[in-house]
Amino acid sequence: MADNPQPLGGNEMPRFAGIATFMRLPAAHDPAELDVAVVGVPFDIGTSNRPGARFGPRGIRDESVLLRPYNMATRAAPFDSLRIDDTGDVATNPYNLADAVDRITAHYRSLLSHGVITATLGGDHTIVLPILRAMAAKHGPVGLVHIDAHTDINEHMFGESIAHGTPFRRAVEEGLLDCKRVVQIGMRGTGYAADDFDWSRSQGFRVVQVEDCWNRSLVPLMNEVRDQVGGGPVYISFDIDGLDPAFAPGTGTPEVAGLTVPQALEIIRGCRGLDIVGFDLVEVAPIYDSTGLTSLTAANLVYEMMCVLPGVEYRD
Ligand code: MN
Ligand code: MN
Repeated sequence: MADNPQPLGGNEMPRFAGIATFMRLPAAHDPAELDVAVVGVPFDIGTSNRPGARFGPRGIRDESVLLRPYNMATRAAPFDSLRIDDTGDVATNPYNLADAVDRITAHYRSLLSHGVITATLGGDHTIVLPILRAMAAKHGPVGLVHIDAHTDINEHMFGESIAHGTPFRRAVEEGLLDCKRVVQIGMRGTGYAADDFDWSRSQGFRVVQVEDCWNRSLVPLMNEVRDQVGGGPVYISFDIDGLDPAFAPGTGTPEVAGLTVPQALEIIRGCRGLDIVGFDLVEVAPIYDSTGLTSLTAANLVYEMMCVLPGVEYRD
């Protein structure tokens, strides 16, 4: 529809000029007028190593200025199909993690009351717990497609129950996930114990370690994943450190030998047809991203996730 919010074109205002909203959307619409709300969560006090993901939303918005509205591979036309706008950031409390988490939940409950799908720019991975609390309050327990180097199911970190390595343990305990409809993809690296990934499996999650992804197309995997996680609402949580640090160096806890960018596109495009109720792209820390590559990749992945949302039309 022509009156949907549209990205500002590069022939109307140079791409390096103007206010850097996500994809140069107008940032002029109330959530009540939208199908998809882009929202930034500038928060990183749950991180365990390098800080900086609080600058993730700005970094992603900065590098998103080059994105154009049509997907040349899938012919998706998300902005023709859906009313999408950048609704700004959550006012997180940078001095108090527990309060910040509660503020995020309240913000998402308010957004979801308007029936929108949320497109989140993180922020460290702590933020998925308060988002899932709001999602489950609205939709009931959700399925999950989780891309990450880490399972993020630690019992505690430094004695704390809420941090960027614990959100999915808490989400299971709180009944926010439909555990048989959860897949974690890209896991690797060193662990505290050799059985670190087994807790996920014991909950019914499918865990796809990165070695099972190396040097192959992930299209067959995603055919299985759609069967596993379909049949109900699904949330996608994409930790940029699921990618190899060659493609995404700007992140807090990098792990070598990760997913490639084409594999990330295969995973996201393989989610087409699922009842996606929200998604996030987390853990972008622009401080360590000397060329902007990580933020650029993140912006493209956010766009690709928009292209597989329910209601998107394809120009084929
Ligand atoms: Mn993570
Ligand atoms: Mn991670």
